[in-house]
Amino acid sequence: MEESKILEIYRTLLDFFGYQNWWPVYSDNPFVEISFGAILTQNTSWKNVEKALKNLIDEDLVDLEKVSCIHEEKLQEIIKPAGFYKRKSRTLIEFSRRFKDIEKDKITRDLLLSVKGIGKETADSILLYALNRPYFVVDAYTRRVFSRIGFFDKNLSYDEIQELFEKNLPEDTDIYKEYHALIVELGKSFCRKKPLCKDCPLFANCKFRIYNV
Ligand code: SF4
Repeated sequence: MEESKILEIYRTLLDFFGYQNWWPVYSDNPFVEISFGAILTQNTSWKNVEKALKNLIDEDLVDLEKVSCIHEEKLQEIIKPAGFYKRKSRTLIEFSRRFKDIEKDKITRDLLLSVKGIGKETADSILLYALNRPYFVVDAYTRRVFSRIGFFDKNLSYDEIQELFEKNLPEDTDIYKEYHALIVELGKSFCRKKPLCKDCPLFANCKFRIYNV
């Protein structure tokens, strides 16, 4: 695919929605807060994550040392608003134990993926937004939007989709961060399961729109 096509869509989305400025941070520990947020956001809305993060900030628990030795049931109560709180509390504790004594530049994708409960999307979100490393994040919205507009088959693997974006974009973490945020915004606002194509900024070039609306 021509580089210009992927960049063209990025610019169209940026013109339409403006900068999203992800990732919002409210504590003085961005690495930990973003990493915890990336784990908490699995299978839930950001609104619910914000409630859980607020509880963590209020309890002064945006801290790997403290979470590494917290009582699991106490953490479950604190992060309950984010849902799946038993599984997520185990992941937060394991993440904290694993990384509390490791220099940030020693944290690799493989190390992140070795933590139970951290998959590729979560690992790449941590690498990109918490560690500023050039890993393009692929989520369900990326798959839905770009398969609908005709860039690839919806069954393409995570790694293949990621490679497609990384090959066709400049290796620029600012672009990767904004682009992922813009795709999420498009997916929430227009390219829903039942899409609202009429006012979508990608309407003109979308195959799904042409054949289904
Ligand atoms: S035109 Fe419709 S199907 Fe295509 S990207 Fe926009 S909302 Fe999704």
